[in-house]
Amino acid sequence: MARPPTVTFLGGVREIGGNKILVEDGPERVLFDFGPSFSPVYDDFFVNFLQPRSTSPVKDLLEFDLIPRVPGLYSREALAGSDLPYEPPTVHAVFLTHAHYDHAGYLQYIDPEIPVHVGADTRRLLEAIEGSGGRGYGEHPWELHRARTAVKLGNLDVLPMPVDHSIPGAYGYLVRTSAGTVAYTGDFRQHGPRARLTHDFLAEAGKDGPAAFITEGTRVGPDPRKEFTEQSVRTEVDRVLERTGDLALGTCYPRDVDRLATLYAAARAAGRSFVVSLKTAFLLSSVAGQPGFPPVPVPGRDPGLLVYERPKQRYYNWEKPFLDAAVDAEYVRAHGRELLLMLEMAHFPELIDLRPPHGTPYIYSMSEPFSEEDVEAEVLQNWLRHFDLRYHPLHASGHCSAGELTAIAERLGPATTYPIHTNYPEQFRPRGLRVRLPEKATPYPVADR
Ligand SMILES: [Zn+2]
Repeated sequence: MARPPTVTFLGGVREIGGNKILVEDGPERVLFDFGPSFSPVYDDFFVNFLQPRSTSPVKDLLEFDLIPRVPGLYSREALAGSDLPYEPPTVHAVFLTHAHYDHAGYLQYIDPEIPVHVGADTRRLLEAIEGSGGRGYGEHPWELHRARTAVKLGNLDVLPMPVDHSIPGAYGYLVRTSAGTVAYTGDFRQHGPRARLTHDFLAEAGKDGPAAFITEGTRVGPDPRKEFTEQSVRTEVDRVLERTGDLALGTCYPRDVDRLATLYAAARAAGRSFVVSLKTAFLLSSVAGQPGFPPVPVPGRDPGLLVYERPKQRYYNWEKPFLDAAVDAEYVRAHGRELLLMLEMAHFPELIDLRPPHGTPYIYSMSEPFSEEDVEAEVLQNWLRHFDLRYHPLHASGHCSAGELTAIAERLGPATTYPIHTNYPEQFRPRGLRVRLPEKATPYPVADR
């Protein structure tokens, strides 16, 4: 008798990020997401300057159990030097929920024969990241799936359902196996500009009465964050800009296209220009006008969008089109009151040239660090103190709160619920539901009784 369909968690177990979910049904083996695990495990061994060797990445990651030991998955090249022998692919497809690094970052190690299924919007983002000097995702047959149109793979029917998250082009999946539906949320929220998508996904999942519900739980456990929506971020940024007679500074995630749109709109409403990095300029011009993306300003076309040019030894080709209209530190010093300047933390040394006036507001539009001993958080505060910048943490999370997740699970009523992508899975306790805290690399029957 054939083995019943199973789901195996190869990552994302007791950690935020690193989701790698294998669904098997008969001969079909399909993987959902393939990103690196971060803290605490990854950070225990690799940090900043200390990274796996590019000549033997899988070998180095296997050493610390940071990547799963799956035959028939990796490329010959990535396996170089490792004791896992190369085998022709036995995994038939990889589906990607969204373009965040902790879900997509290890795609480069996957056998180039294995098709990778993504939304066209996700593909565009990955291209924009690769095109602006970001990491590569490797060569694959890219299969662009359409929202709400099932992809058939043998016994499996995979229905991509767009959801709202802090990056456009995020999907949840309904994986219809021969033993019932596996509903996988990816990363999602229901308080962002595309909340309706999340509601549609949950409604569709509800119709199936899922056998297994795999939910992210980023905000399960201690969650000190204030509840902001995209709209309330806008209101608060408006307030900060209103009270500022000089330069305003900010930082947001480089791919949070919604936030960039929000901050641009706020800057314009305050009669300011929005100043972004070359990388952001490239991203905005890559996604502008594309289906699935909010309206965004285009450098060189839209008023009130400027590009900040850091002094560099040499410029890459992708940077060159933006240099004509770029402004430098001297310009920012002279026109501070007309600007909202975005500055990644990695580019903080620019502050030494920018000389922001005392009390300049600094809008930190990213999630706050999770732990107290976060080194980056401490360094950030040191810089703010040194330059006497006023800290305004204003961020709408990309994730549902623990309360929302509980209500969602209870409404959905799956046979088994698996909380992943959280450091505190045991704290997820929806009433009347069976919650299984998955162990890494253990296959669970989809119809688990
Ligand atoms: Zn994400």
